[in-house]
Amino acid sequence: MAVLKADAYGHGAQALAPIAVQNGAAMIGVSSLEEGIHLRDTGIRAPILNLGGIYPLDNFSIALDFNITPTVASFEAARTLLRVGQARNCPVGFHLKIDTGMGRLGVSVEEAEKILRWAVETKGVQVLGVYSHLSCADSDPRFTELQTKRFGSVIKTVARLGLEKPLNHLANSAALLRYRKTHFDMVRPGVALFGDSIVPIPTSVSLFPVLSWHSRIIFLKKVPKGFPISYGRTYRTKKESLIATLPVGYADGVPRSISNKGYVLVRGGRCPIVGRVTMDQIMIDVTKVHGKVGDEVILVGRQEKDEIRIGEMAKWAGTISYEIFCGISKRVPRVVK
Ligand SMILES: *Cc1c(COP(=O)(O)O)cnc(C)c1O
Repeated sequence: MAVLKADAYGHGAQALAPIAVQNGAAMIGVSSLEEGIHLRDTGIRAPILNLGGIYPLDNFSIALDFNITPTVASFEAARTLLRVGQARNCPVGFHLKIDTGMGRLGVSVEEAEKILRWAVETKGVQVLGVYSHLSCADSDPRFTELQTKRFGSVIKTVARLGLEKPLNHLANSAALLRYRKTHFDMVRPGVALFGDSIVPIPTSVSLFPVLSWHSRIIFLKKVPKGFPISYGRTYRTKKESLIATLPVGYADGVPRSISNKGYVLVRGGRCPIVGRVTMDQIMIDVTKVHGKVGDEVILVGRQEKDEIRIGEMAKWAGTISYEIFCGISKRVPRVVK
């Protein structure tokens, strides 16, 4: 499964979904019906699984309208889905979500057995998949093993009850890269698809960053020593400096927390962000690289011999790459190559 929720982690799901399908993704994961409909609207016909919850439960009818496979995470949801299907005389299918230790969405292992038994005995309903989500695949091997074991016990129940073989799936990117035992019938990478990882990448795997983030110097000034830059005057030049202005700010997704902390690439050199990140613009010190108006600026990506990875920007901001990806706002045009 290609997990393309949150507009493919900010990359643009409509552009990336066909590429994922062409390259062998059997299914696309989204986190709401709206996201699924957005993909159906561009003619994506591959199976789509809504990984999120549905509220109110009558909205299962929308899932059926758009052929989006719903997740069921309670007995009430299972029964409602069946009722919605019966009202239009159509059989229904779902993936059952088990909470094996994430504490987010899902039924307990015990409740899962009851729902599976009900599904075996009930006409017009099919369990297409059984899945769970790992909370610590990047950090805690023992808890990951425990979750995998709990999941395995549900799979045994499935076999014992003689259900028509559902797809079993558990692994996110970190588990895909680290734990063979979590792979089951299908894996659900999200962030790894975009060439990023929060765990060390095995040498047998090559991940290439899909996204680079570009801007340009649109204004330049030479200023004397002690010159204040941006809101709050949190930065003052230490000597005569060449300060450039870029038309990108926190409304575009540059975290305000990297004020006076982050860097960008200009002419192959690292230039510090000086002063506070503002809504629409940031200032950088280009004294060292002799920047010119019109110079290309890389916020994330490679330029000559240097590279700023999304994870590096995330570290400056005190967060993870996921949040930076998702924070790049609509106002930044995506160009697909
Ligand atoms: C987001 C998500 C994934 C993908 O997670 P990554 O860490 O990006 O690989 C997989 N499964 C579920 C249920 C998710 O919510």
